[in-house]
Amino acid sequence: MLQDLRHELESLNLAASGSRQTVELDQSRVGRLSRIDALQGQAMNNAIAARRHNKLLAIEAALERLEEKEFGYCVKCGDEITLKRLELDPTVALCLGCSK
Ligand SMILES: [Zn+2]
Repeated sequence: MLQDLRHELESLNLAASGSRQTVELDQSRVGRLSRIDALQGQAMNNAIAARRHNKLLAIEAALERLEEKEFGYCVKCGDEITLKRLELDPTVALCLGCSK
């Protein structure tokens, strides 16, 4: 099961780096838009890129925990994170109690 999760995380990782390239291409095209549109587009792209970057960091942290055999345990209290919670988001680092 952990192996499956690892593959899933790695494909997410690849998808995220692919998306980052798309954002760069989009930004090179904003020259055709009006200044206001360009600024709005840029702000939106930045927000999307920031979210992707955070996701990527979460994936890398999860892969690191996998290496350290700490994957699936809450980084705060050390309790096991439920399988249901991990299936929902394999990069989750906190148990239900600690995430509240
Ligand atoms: Zn916890």
